[in-house]
Amino acid sequence: MFDSLSDRLNAAFKRFKGHGRLDAKNIKDGLREVRLALLEADVHFSVVKDFIERIKDRAQGQEVLESLTPGQQVVKIVHEEMIELLGGTTSGLDLGTKPPLVIMMAGLQGSGKTTTSAKLALYLRRQKRKPFLVPADVYRPAAIDQLHKLANELGVPAFASTADMNPVDICSQAIEEAKKQACDVVLLDTAGRLHIDELLMQELQAIKETCKPQEILFVADSMTGQDAVNVAARFNELLDVTGVVLTKMEGDARGGAALSIKSVTGKPIKFVGMGEKLSDLEVFHPDRVASRILG
Ligand code: GDP
Repeated sequence: MFDSLSDRLNAAFKRFKGHGRLDAKNIKDGLREVRLALLEADVHFSVVKDFIERIKDRAQGQEVLESLTPGQQVVKIVHEEMIELLGGTTSGLDLGTKPPLVIMMAGLQGSGKTTTSAKLALYLRRQKRKPFLVPADVYRPAAIDQLHKLANELGVPAFASTADMNPVDICSQAIEEAKKQACDVVLLDTAGRLHIDELLMQELQAIKETCKPQEILFVADSMTGQDAVNVAARFNELLDVTGVVLTKMEGDARGGAALSIKSVTGKPIKFVGMGEKLSDLEVFHPDRVASRILG
C-alpha cells in the first residue's frame, strides 16, 4: 500500500534533511518534489495545492526558523499535515446510539458493498454486537444470494429479501424483523449501478427518508483513484453520507483516493478493505496511515 508514494516522499525529504539551515530555495525544491509525488499518486489537484501552501507557510515560520534541526522540523510538519489530510482523528461507528443502529451501505456496483457489509457484520460481532444483514439489491438477484451465503458463512441472521420486493419495503420490514430478533445493528446492502443514475439515487434517497439510518457509508474502490473521489462527492451531495469505506487497499492503490476524499467531501474514511476475506477490514487510523506512508 502506497509504496511508490512512500519512496517518492522519502526521496523528497532528503532535500530537507542534512542542512544546518533551510533557506527558501531548499524549501521550495523539497516541496516541489513532495507536490510531484502527490500528483503522481493521483491526489486531487486542488488538495495538493492547498496541502503544499499550508506546509510552505509553516515551513517559513518560527517553528522551523528556531529549530536546531530545521529539515526534520519540516518533515514533522508534512507528517502532521498528512494526518489532517487523512481526516485527523479516527472516526469509527457511533455504537452508543439507541439500538438498532441502522447502517446504509451505498456505492457503485463492484465497489465492494456486499463484501463490506459482511465484513462489517463480522467486525460488529467481534465488538459484541448482534448484526442483521439486509440484501436490498433487487436488480442483481445474484447479490441477494451472495449476501445470504456470506451471512450463512458467518452465522449472522439476514432478511429473506426476494427480487420481486420493493427495496424501500425490504429495508423497513427488515428493521422491524431485526428488532424482533433483538439485533442491535442493521446493515442495509443497497443496489449499485455502473454509473451514478437518477433512478438509483431516488431509490437511495427514499430508503434514507424511510429508514433514517444513523450511518450512511459510501463504499469506494480505491483502485479507481480520482473517479472514486468524484463519485464520493456526488453521493455525498445527494445523500449526505456519514463516512467512507475504501476497499481494495491492500493492492497497489496509489493513495489518491485516500488522500483526497476527506478534503473533497468533508467526510471521514471510517474503514478500509484490505482483501477479499471477511476478516480483511480495518478501522482507518489517519495517524497510523500517515506513518506508514512517511516511513
Ligand atoms: P458490490 O457490487 O459493490 O456489492 O461489490 P462486491 O462486494 O460484490 O465486490 C466486488 C468484488 O470486489 C468482489 O470480487 C470482492 O471479493 C472484491 N472486493 C471487495 N472488497 C475487496 C478488498 O478490500 N480487496 C480486494 N482485493 N477485493 C475486494
